[in-house]
Amino acid sequence: MGTEPAAAGRPGGERAVRDEESRVWETLVTTARRTVADGLVVGTSGNVSARVGDLVLVTPSGVPYDRLTGDDLTAVDLTGRQVRGTLVPTSELPMHLAVYRTTDARAVVHTHAVHATAVSTLVTELPPIHYMAAALGGPVRVAPYATYGTAELAENMLRALAGRSGCLLQNHGTITYGAGLDQAYDRTAQLEWMCRLWLTASAVPGRTPSLLSEAHMAEAGARLKGYGQRR
Ligand code: 13P
Ligand code: ZN
Repeated sequence: MGTEPAAAGRPGGERAVRDEESRVWETLVTTARRTVADGLVVGTSGNVSARVGDLVLVTPSGVPYDRLTGDDLTAVDLTGRQVRGTLVPTSELPMHLAVYRTTDARAVVHTHAVHATAVSTLVTELPPIHYMAAALGGPVRVAPYATYGTAELAENMLRALAGRSGCLLQNHGTITYGAGLDQAYDRTAQLEWMCRLWLTASAVPGRTPSLLSEAHMAEAGARLKGYGQRR
C-alpha cells in the first residue's frame, strides 16, 4: 500500500478516489484516440494527461491508443514518481508536469498536428490571423527546438506558454492545456485550424493575409469570456 498516500484521507474516501481516477482514465483514452481519429497525430505520436487530486494520469509511452484498457491506468505524482500502473509513462512527462506545476491546468494535450508543425518551422509566433487566438490568451508563440522528452524542451515550452494556454513546439508539434480534457483537446483543434488558415491564406501568390491588431485581439478576448450559453 506504499503507493497510495496521495489517495488516502481525501473526502469521499479511497473508493471514491479510485472511481474518479477510472472515470478520468476513460475520458483520457477517448481523447487520445480522438487525436488519431481526427488526424492530429499518426501512430503513437503525441500524448495526453489529466490531473486527479495530486496525481497525473498519463498515456503510456509508445502504446497504440486503441489497445489501452481500463487496466492500463498509468499515473505519476507531481515529481514524476510512478504511483499507478506498470506501463512506462509518456516520454514527455517533463512537459506535462511543468504545466501542472506552474498553472491551474487539469488536462494537457500534445500532438504533432501537421499544419501547426509546419507553421512551427516558419515563424517564431503564429501571426494573429484570427480572433480565436484570444481563446488561447493571445498570439501563439513557438518554443525553440529541443530534443523530445528533455527538461530543456519543457523549459522552452514554459517560456512560450507565459500568459497562454497553448504554444507550438518548433519542428515538433503543439501543446495545450485546459480545465478539462475536452477544453485542452478543443484548444489543440482550434490551434491546428488557425495554423491551417494562416498557411492557406499565405499560400496565395502575390497576396499577404491581413492580420488583427492587439486591440482587435484584446476586444475579442474580452468578448469570448461571455461566449456560449449563459447559465
Ligand atoms: P510517447 O509515446 O512517449 O508519449 O512520445 C510521443 C511523443 O510525441 C514524443 O514527443
Ligand atoms: Zn511529440
